[in-house]
Amino acid sequence: MKITYSIIAPIYNEIDNLPELYRRVKKVMDSSGEPWELLLVDDGSTDGSTEGIRELAQKDKTVRPIIFARNFGHQVAITAGWDYARGDAIIIIDADLQDPPETILELAKKWKEGYEVVYAVRGEREGESWFKKFTAAMFYRLIYSITDVKIPVDTGDFRLMDRKVVNVLKQMKERHRFPRGMSAWVGFKQIGVKYKRAARVAGVTKYPFSKMLNILDSLQRAFPSLPFQ
Ligand code: UDP
Ligand code: MG
Repeated sequence: MKITYSIIAPIYNEIDNLPELYRRVKKVMDSSGEPWELLLVDDGSTDGSTEGIRELAQKDKTVRPIIFARNFGHQVAITAGWDYARGDAIIIIDADLQDPPETILELAKKWKEGYEVVYAVRGEREGESWFKKFTAAMFYRLIYSITDVKIPVDTGDFRLMDRKVVNVLKQMKERHRFPRGMSAWVGFKQIGVKYKRAARVAGVTKYPFSKMLNILDSLQRAFPSLPFQ
């Protein structure tokens, strides 16, 4: 069957979020009236998420499991999702429900108007520490000011991309990957949609400060003129 929407959720130890993620994505996507699939990418979880994903996939064929042999990182999980997605529109969403699945329909509306990359811009942010908000705000503004590619500020990986954009991204062979930067770099007709970033439903952030520094390292490799190191 032809799939319209592929939803990719990278998952690292999100066992308590899985049932609610599945329930809300299913409710929203069924209401679109179009065929969809949910790709759950298990990035080396050790909390039982792997078994949880397999179980969901067994019960519902719209759920497709991709299971990693170890933790490779969020960016690699997204890349695997791109490789396996079969839809005409590909959506990346966090598994902790900070990105509300209901917003997918708003992204899809812009896609139907002809936009090829519809990125979700974080307006308000709920349930995050001042430190997280401050480092995030600094991060986006620093990147914006020093890179040639204008990566939209306050924008994570939550976005919808047309099949033709993902086909281009799949050809990019960078080893240190920064999906939101790559999707800004490729061009195409792009637009932002504002949304309210919710608090995590369960669990804690998998992005301690050390992992945020790793992202800066990937950026340094992608753009050697950047002043970190
Ligand atoms: N994640 C992942 N691999 C990792 C770290 C995170 O797949 O090594 C997933 C995580 O399960 C979540 C998404 O990436 O679905 C975003 O992570 P998180 O919510 O911890 O980041 P934050 O929202 O705090 O920036
Ligand atoms: Mg989160």
